[in-house]
Amino acid sequence: MKIKKLYFALVFIFISFLNLHSKPYVIIVSFDGFRWDYLNRNITPNLNEILNDGVHALSLRPSFPSKTFPNHISILTGMYPDNHGIISNNIKNIFNGKRYRIGNNKSVTEPEWYQGEFFWETAERNGIKTASYFWPGSEISDTLRSPNKVKPYEHNFPFINRIDTVVSWLKLPIQERPQFITLYFHETDSKGHDFGTESDEINEAIALVDSLAGYLFKQIQELPIKDSVNILFVSDHGMQNIDKNKIVNVEELISQYKYDLVDSGPLMQIFPNSENDKENIYAELKRNEKHFKAYLKNELPDYYHFGKHPLIAPIVLIADYEAYLVNNRISKRNYDLSAATHGYAKDHINMHGIFIANGPAFNKGMKTGTIWNIDIYPLLCELFKITPRSNIDGKIDRIRFILNNE
Ligand code: AMP
Ligand code: ZN
Ligand code: ZN
Repeated sequence: MKIKKLYFALVFIFISFLNLHSKPYVIIVSFDGFRWDYLNRNITPNLNEILNDGVHALSLRPSFPSKTFPNHISILTGMYPDNHGIISNNIKNIFNGKRYRIGNNKSVTEPEWYQGEFFWETAERNGIKTASYFWPGSEISDTLRSPNKVKPYEHNFPFINRIDTVVSWLKLPIQERPQFITLYFHETDSKGHDFGTESDEINEAIALVDSLAGYLFKQIQELPIKDSVNILFVSDHGMQNIDKNKIVNVEELISQYKYDLVDSGPLMQIFPNSENDKENIYAELKRNEKHFKAYLKNELPDYYHFGKHPLIAPIVLIADYEAYLVNNRISKRNYDLSAATHGYAKDHINMHGIFIANGPAFNKGMKTGTIWNIDIYPLLCELFKITPRSNIDGKIDRIRFILNNE
């Protein structure tokens, strides 16, 4: 009897061991605001080498609005912001007065804002360990919905140390080792905003993140599990220089009415104080529709996939390409704006980011057209052979062709 038990225990251990070994590792790296065409500037030797050996999409199409939190969360939930709930970097809950702001450490941890299921939650339910060295939403306070390992966001934490930690996670004993890891760097977004898309500073930032990609890749090649590691390099959106002749102070147009404004830039949301104010504000904005379009929430074209979520304001303004919407407070600062921004409609090519995939699961030397960021979540599920949520917007059939079927 004892021998039989021992035999089954050994078989069980052996099968678990095989399972752990047969599953892939996936690292998803985000370079915030890395525009699709920055790879063509001849300053990214590492990324170019990595993409030549893997899959390179012409661009990665963001979801609307092409902002940081909405898109990182679309990438890992497979949903448009309208469905996952992070409809902007700033959200106002008109029903209870609460605010969500990316600079507010507490609000980003509150589970109520997040209606999508992040890939790390799907993975963990399927017995896959996950870890995050930063990703919007990763600090959600419900441990059932967060990665197994999480780092609280620290903007200035040295980039190399982030990579060293990720590599050290991949050296952990197999039972503790995460198989899915996220990693994030803001540098290209910050320099793009501050100095514009044609500046020396953005080129230095591009070269810097390229060297980080090279450093990470080299470290991984030295690991015993190197042949099971897949890496995705993505970005949440691109960047567009602002035309200072297309700045509109929306408050000057509607000063006689009562309202609350949320956000500025390519997207502005207006919460009128009354039904009457709503009609008047909308009519006034329609009369002055220069460099932007005004929409009633329920009239937003389907194209945006934006307008159904209960927390979207009754009136939504979308700036034309290169234009910028401001409020009185920003206007008083004499339009001391960033040089460039993002948030515009998802089909403006300069809003597109990058998509590079390298590793045993992917085709080699494959160039594809544009890929949609909502399709990455079902791609991750396919990589790990687990079932995605059925209520997502992403589709595996649009992206499966990049996988190596061997
Ligand atoms: P934006 O350009 O306004 O869409 O947002 C970019 C900024 O988001 C970055 O400069 C970071 O400071 C911030 N950010 C990115 N990831 C996180 C995070 N996980 N937690 C808090 N802030 C973040
Ligand atoms: Zn961003
Ligand atoms: Zn940005």
